[in-house]
Amino acid sequence: MASKSNEQIVMLPFMAHGHLIPFLALARQIHQATGFTISIASTALNIQYLTSTFNSSSDEPNNDHIHLVELPFCSNDHGLPPNTENSENLSLDLVGKLFSASLSLRTPFHSFVGDIAAKQGHPPLCIISDIFFGWAGEVADSLGTVNVSFSTGGAYGTLAYSSLWLNLPHRGRGDSDEFHLPGFPDRCRFHITQLHHFLRNADGTDSWSKFFQPQISLSMQSFGWLCNTVEEFEPEGLEWLRKFVKLPVWAIGPLLPPVVLKNDSSSLVISSGISTRRAGKRPEISTEKCMEWLESYSPGSVLYVSFGSQNSISPSQMMELAIGLEESAKPFIWVVRPPVGFDKKCDFRAEWLPDGFEERMKNRKQGLLVRNWAPQLEILSHMSTGAFLSHCGWNSVLESLSQGMPIIGWPLAAEQAYNSKMLVEEMGVGVELTRGVQSSIDWKEVKKVIELVMDKKGKGGDMRNKAMVIKEQLRASVRDEGEDKGSSVKALDHLMRTLESKRQVISSTSTI
Ligand code: UDP
Repeated sequence: MASKSNEQIVMLPFMAHGHLIPFLALARQIHQATGFTISIASTALNIQYLTSTFNSSSDEPNNDHIHLVELPFCSNDHGLPPNTENSENLSLDLVGKLFSASLSLRTPFHSFVGDIAAKQGHPPLCIISDIFFGWAGEVADSLGTVNVSFSTGGAYGTLAYSSLWLNLPHRGRGDSDEFHLPGFPDRCRFHITQLHHFLRNADGTDSWSKFFQPQISLSMQSFGWLCNTVEEFEPEGLEWLRKFVKLPVWAIGPLLPPVVLKNDSSSLVISSGISTRRAGKRPEISTEKCMEWLESYSPGSVLYVSFGSQNSISPSQMMELAIGLEESAKPFIWVVRPPVGFDKKCDFRAEWLPDGFEERMKNRKQGLLVRNWAPQLEILSHMSTGAFLSHCGWNSVLESLSQGMPIIGWPLAAEQAYNSKMLVEEMGVGVELTRGVQSSIDWKEVKKVIELVMDKKGKGGDMRNKAMVIKEQLRASVRDEGEDKGSSVKALDHLMRTLESKRQVISSTSTI
């Protein structure tokens, strides 16, 4: 790949951890491959978060070439509580306001990119913006560069989410109706219960539609899309997405720490403290303690349960999940959070779980309850862990499959229901236990599904074998040894060459 270290790329992620981390990982990859300088622009608190992730990391390529740049943003001006700049721990109503408020980043972002252009004598090679920031394309146009839209999700989930917003309304569909979604073949039928309630009620005039419809449409006018997925893993999803957006789509995933994709043994991963570092957070339990706990179990025998960085389930669901876990008699690690209806930062209350549950799990050595945040990557990379009960956030999906681990889906928000659908229907590596926070789930169902997936034979064994094939596809895609380059490495290389050619075309036409 051509390398010009004086070239610049500017990135603009949406303000959610599940977006910031893949953007940072992509910045590292581009810099490593090209030597280019990358600037990631966001609000002060998100920059602080990225800085903490960044500084505690020992495997940085060269920190001087990844700049973290603050854009002015005042949450109070948008009806948001002070210092509300990230979607973590926000109520849905505030998440909606954060989306609308993010539009105010346009003016400072324009000035920032304009300043780079003035200083260098030419604009950055490109802007890489979140698909939720379609307006970045207009900034790019006005400054003589191009915008590449980056979806931090997978191809199937991104297509479903985009198509749902662009084909409103969905109101009026019955609870038992299946429907066809433009962009998908007929055999992929969708269901109203797979739509979050704001999407179910959206009609183009509400604040959610008013944000998503124009931003996704504008993203579809950009130079191309990037997707945090792998060509061999989602061949059909990518084909459908390409047809839908009518743009080139480069599959450059999985954007995971290299150590996760290289090692099979837990010991290397344990010592690296990757989850803690990636999240810029301190888990309430040390990574060593989790690893010590896992050590005493046989390979593939432990279930890991977590609903990501921002979602919770309802109090009654939490109770049934606890009973189901106990009754399954399988060892588990569960990241417990205050259920829906409670302040996400409030102290843990024993009443959320069955009487004496935590004590019994401890005494029987059946379960480890971790409050709020666990070292997820280390847990998933440990050989004792055998399956993941997950909300199907895309990072969790990639992290699980990169370890060859099947998934019990419990999607809660965003595009998670479509990720879950894909895992079950297209990949055969998952079972959906339930969806959303409204569903009434019975502990017997929880027990049954856990037993099915943890079983090393039968359907559980089948799912594990398929997940192992995907693990190899994900790992092969990032191989970069001489001539032996994986599909994602080639895709990034192709993108950079395409951008450089485009730059030459723009330069030659602007001087005529
Ligand atoms: N994560 C973690 N510990 C936790 C919960 C989450 O390390 O207790 C990390 C997880 O490894 C993943 C990210 O947070 O990288 C969650 O991203 P995902 O896309 O799965 O879900 P989101 O939080 O965006 O809904």
